[in-house]
Amino acid sequence: MRVGPSQDEIRRQNLGALLRHVHVHGATSRAELTTTLGLNRSTIGALTADLAGAGLVSEGTPKETGRAGRPSLVVRPESARVYAYSIEVDRLRAARVGLGGEILDRRDLERPRGLDAGETAPLLAGALKEMHQSVPAGALCVGAGVAVCGMVRRADGLVRLGPTTGWVDEPIGAALADELGIDVPITVGNVADVAAFAEHARGVAAGCDNVIYLYGDVGVGAGIIAGGRRVTGHGGYGGEVGHMVVVRDGARCECGSRGCWETEIGEYGLLRAAGRSDARGREALLALFDAADRGDARAQTAVRQAGDWLGFGVGNLVNIFNPEMVIFGGTMRDLYLAAAAQVRSRLNQVGLPACLEHVRLRTPKLGEDAALVGAAELAFERLLADPLDVG
Ligand SMILES: [Zn+2]
Repeated sequence: MRVGPSQDEIRRQNLGALLRHVHVHGATSRAELTTTLGLNRSTIGALTADLAGAGLVSEGTPKETGRAGRPSLVVRPESARVYAYSIEVDRLRAARVGLGGEILDRRDLERPRGLDAGETAPLLAGALKEMHQSVPAGALCVGAGVAVCGMVRRADGLVRLGPTTGWVDEPIGAALADELGIDVPITVGNVADVAAFAEHARGVAAGCDNVIYLYGDVGVGAGIIAGGRRVTGHGGYGGEVGHMVVVRDGARCECGSRGCWETEIGEYGLLRAAGRSDARGREALLALFDAADRGDARAQTAVRQAGDWLGFGVGNLVNIFNPEMVIFGGTMRDLYLAAAAQVRSRLNQVGLPACLEHVRLRTPKLGEDAALVGAAELAFERLLADPLDVG
């Protein structure tokens, strides 16, 4: 016989739901929580008391109501006390993010290319240790989330392949844990997945259940949300849309194959098409878009061609996933903005009418910080799943 959830399980679920609500939406009145969570007033009161007792939320008067009379109490996350560390490996950036998603402290390091995990971990761990020194006494660290450009094994965060860094089976999570010497759980995820996670939780895709976040750095990947859930595949390797083969026997890709989508729309492909193969990096790409904008014919042709390819690929993804929103992040944002007409034209050409009906094309609301915020969300997930276990 199937047994229903126990009282304790229901209470833990409700604690998680309440904490998640204030984590995502900020200070919320008890009355609104009662309506949103579908629980009665006394239950909301008891849950709030439990979370406040664990130091995860506080209750107080709203900062400004603009209304006369006695204001109703609001529940707000203890953002200054409860935090997660967040690391964006490929950009060598680290942050301390408070419950509620606010970046409390950050370090942006110089980004030399060609470092392996053993060289990268001490740099990032050093940034975290520096931030750790200014953490207030009594604050609670719930974990660290790490975003990497590459295929990440869900089970243990091993980077199986970072095509553009040349990483193969690099244990970046373990290397960071060794260097840090701080006893916190470390969760590693793909940068496009975590950026999608952030935009879905608190960015341009809030409230959308079917989203594709296309992220470009040197290569291209996608974070996919379907039915409100992150789609990462069996081992965690899903979303490698940059390696869809679009040109038979096309240009050689960093993954070892030929004619992958990212050989046409990624950094190397764009620079090659513009006759700038010797140039590298985000700045070189921005210079290329700038040249196209100023009328450089070869740069314009390269951007138009890449815009065509971007539209074709997005059309295929729209037909497969029927998303309500496609977000262009990283270098894909720059390419989309530089070639929006081509992208829309090709998308309309290959997209099935029914799939095109409700799809919106957007740029990220969280901008360059999406991956940092999303990596912190990975760490907060454990807390939100069972608040009193971690708190
Ligand atoms: Zn490839």
